[in-house]
Amino acid sequence: MMSTQSVSSPVIGGLAEGKKLGLASHLILIGALAAVYYATARAGLLFAIPPGNATAVWPPSGIALGGLLLGGLSITPGIWIGSFLVNTGTGVSPVTAGIIATGNTAAALVAFALCRRFLSLDAPFRRAACGFRLFAIAAVACLLAATLGSGSLAINGYISEGQFGSNWSTWWLGDLAGVMLLSPLFMLFGARHQSQVPSHALFGALVSLVVLGVISLAIFGSWLPEEFSEGLLYLPLIALFWLLLRFPPIVVFGGNLLIAVIAVHYTSRGSGPFATEVVANSLFELQFFMTVYALTTLALIGVLSSQREAENRESQLAAKVKADEAMRKKESELAHVARLATMGELVAGIAHEVNQPLYAIANYAAASESMLASCDVRQNDRLCDLNRQISDQAVRAGEIIRRMRGFVKKSGDQRTVFSISDAVDEACSLLDAEARLQTIAVNAHPESTVPVCVCADRIQIEQVFINLIRNAIDAMGESDGDKRVVTVRTVVVENEVQVSVIDRGIGITQSSLTDVFAPFFTTKQNGMGMGLAISRTIVEAHGGRIWASPGTDDGAVFTVALPIDKSGADGR
Ligand code: ADP
Repeated sequence: MMSTQSVSSPVIGGLAEGKKLGLASHLILIGALAAVYYATARAGLLFAIPPGNATAVWPPSGIALGGLLLGGLSITPGIWIGSFLVNTGTGVSPVTAGIIATGNTAAALVAFALCRRFLSLDAPFRRAACGFRLFAIAAVACLLAATLGSGSLAINGYISEGQFGSNWSTWWLGDLAGVMLLSPLFMLFGARHQSQVPSHALFGALVSLVVLGVISLAIFGSWLPEEFSEGLLYLPLIALFWLLLRFPPIVVFGGNLLIAVIAVHYTSRGSGPFATEVVANSLFELQFFMTVYALTTLALIGVLSSQREAENRESQLAAKVKADEAMRKKESELAHVARLATMGELVAGIAHEVNQPLYAIANYAAASESMLASCDVRQNDRLCDLNRQISDQAVRAGEIIRRMRGFVKKSGDQRTVFSISDAVDEACSLLDAEARLQTIAVNAHPESTVPVCVCADRIQIEQVFINLIRNAIDAMGESDGDKRVVTVRTVVVENEVQVSVIDRGIGITQSSLTDVFAPFFTTKQNGMGMGLAISRTIVEAHGGRIWASPGTDDGAVFTVALPIDKSGADGR
C-alpha cells in the first residue's frame, strides 16, 4: 500500500502543487472532480447508443486522467462517484452502475500509472513520439472501461449478444477520443512552460482562436455548400499549424478542443461533413477524425518542441563559445598585466644587473683609451683582451634587456616545442638579481642532461615559474641564513615532466593547499592574489596540473606537471 504522502501528491504542477492539502480541501477536490465528471458525462450521454451508457462522445475519460495528474491519486473517489451517479441515471441497476464506475476508475488509474511511466510530465509533449505514447496509453487503458462496462451491460441483460460488439467499440473509441482531446490540456496546464501565454501574445492568441472558431463554424455549421465544407475539412489543420508556430502548445490544444466542441455540436444536429441519418454513427466517425487531429497536433507539438530545444541548445552553445573566447582574451590580458606588475617589481634588481656590465664597459673603454694614448705597441695583446671584454659585457647587457623585453611581450597562445630546463633557467636568471639582493640562492636541478621538451607557450610557462619562484623568495623573508635557498627540481614521471619549486619559508597550512589557487587569495600586505590563479589557468590550458604540498621539513613545494613532447625542441 502506498504512503499517504505519495497518494496525495499531484504528479504535475497543478491544483495541489507545493501544498499539503487538508481533509476538507481533499473532499472539495473529490467533489469537484465528481461534479465535472457528472456534468460532462451527462452531456456525452445525450449522444449515447441504446441502452444509453455507451457514447461516441465521452469527455470524462480525459477529465478523469487529467484530474488525477493535477490533483493526485487521493482524489480518485471523485471519478467513481461521478461515474456511478451518471450511470444510475441511465436506468441500470446500482450493481451494474457500480461495475461501470469501477471500470471507468480503473481505466483512469491505469492511464495515470502508464503516463507516469512513459511520459515525462514536466514537459509532456517535447518529442513527436510523446503524442503516440499517449495514444497507446489511452488505447490500452480504455480497453478496461469498455470491456467492464459493455460486459456488465451484456451480463445483466441490458444489451443483447449481438449489440455487444458495437457497444464495446463505441465505448472504447469514445473514451479514447475523450482522453486524446482533453487530457493533453491538463498536462500542458501542469507543465508551466508549455502553458504560459506571454501577455503580449494574448490578444493575438485570442484573435487566432476566434478565426479558427469561425472556420470550424463555416465547415461544420454548413454555412457553405456541402461540396465545399467537405473539401475544407482540413483547413482547421492549417490554422492549427499557424497557432503552433506562434503560440505555446496549450493554445494549440485549446484550438483543437474548440474545433471538437463545434464539430460535435453541429454533427449531432445533422449538419456538416460527418452528418448521417444516425447521429451516433456520425459522431463515431467524427470522433475518429478528431482523435487523428489530436494525435497529429500532439506529434507536431513534439516535433516543434524538439526543434526549439535544439535551437536553444545551439544558441546556448554559441553563447558559451563566445563567453569562453572572451574569458580567454581577458585571461590573456590579465596575465599580461600580471607580467607587467612582476616586471615593475623586478626593475630594481634588473637595473642593478644592467649597471654592472655598463660599469665594466666604461672601465674597459677607459683603460683601452689610456693604453692607446701611450701608444705602447707591446700592449697590443692587452688591448685586444680589453676590447673582447667590452664586447662581452655589451652582449651581456643586451641579453638582459632582451630577456626583459621577451618576458613583457604581449603574447597570444604561441606554442612551440622547447626544453623545460631552458625555461626554468630563464626564469631563474630573471629572478637572480632580486634573489641575490635578498641573499637568497635559486638553484635549478634538472634530473638529466638530456633535454626534456614540452609543447607550450614558452613565455606563459616561464611566467608560471617566475610566479612560483617569487612566491618562494617572498615566503623566505624571515628564514635563517642556511635555509635561504630555493630549489627548482625537474623530474620525469611517466609521460609528464614535473617541475617543483621548493622553499624553506613560512610554509602553507593543509587547509590552504587548494585555496591559494583561488583568484584574489592573498596573505601578503601588497599581494594581488592572482599569481597562482593565473598560473593554474595557464598550466591547465596546456593540459597540465599544478598543486601545492607542504615541504619535507618546513616550507612549501609547488609542482607543475606538463605533458612531455616527444618530437624534440625547435628552440625559441
Ligand atoms: P600573491 O603573491 O599576490 O599573494 P599568489 O596567487 O601568487 O598571490 O599567492 C597567493 C597566496 O598563496 C600568497 O598570498 C601566500 O599566502 C600563498 N603562497 C604562495 N606561495 C607560497 C609559498 N611558497 N609559501 C607559502 N605560502 C605561499
